[in-house]
Amino acid sequence: MDFRNYYYWIYYSNSIKDIICKPYKSAKLSDISNPFGANPQWYNGVPHNGVDWVSSYGTPLVAPELCIVDNIITGESINADLAPLSRGYGIILKGLISGKFHLYWHCLPMFPVKCGQTLKQGDVCAYMGNSGFVMTHGVVVPIELRTQPPYPGTHLHQEVFIFDSNSQRVYENPLKLVDFSIPISYNLLTSIMIIIKKIINLILKK
Ligand SMILES: [Zn+2]
Repeated sequence: MDFRNYYYWIYYSNSIKDIICKPYKSAKLSDISNPFGANPQWYNGVPHNGVDWVSSYGTPLVAPELCIVDNIITGESINADLAPLSRGYGIILKGLISGKFHLYWHCLPMFPVKCGQTLKQGDVCAYMGNSGFVMTHGVVVPIELRTQPPYPGTHLHQEVFIFDSNSQRVYENPLKLVDFSIPISYNLLTSIMIIIKKIINLILKK
């Protein structure tokens, strides 16, 4: 199935400016557990407003294009107003080329970047985890159950949206924009951190 042709999307521009990179190095279409516009019965009749990518705990997530970090909800600010993210740990990046916002969600409650920071395409901005708000099959999934069947386990909920003239979010299918051929490479420090995280995951069996 080619999710790029999935039936539900609201806005799409053919502009070359809209091309973004995949959210992590090994991302492929077969990682997608829940495509854009799917399963409105799970979300009170509203179609899924992003794409869910399943990968391993700690997978580095990268900026989709030249971005500025617009908002981060961390573990320390869990009691703060979470309205911009509708609850949950996550990060909002504002694309400086397309002008669109890109939301990375369901992350570890720690981010190697700061609000206001400018990121180049492919810069690591978060690590994939199991924190935040997860709703699927019509129920909110408690954190201790998220990695067990029938739930998809560690995944990234990726959204792309703009604000319309009424300041309402208008979502579009991220897969309409992703160019899988854009290379992603990590600097030495990030590469070392990835190896350390993998060892920790192995020990903790995450
Ligand atoms: Zn999702």
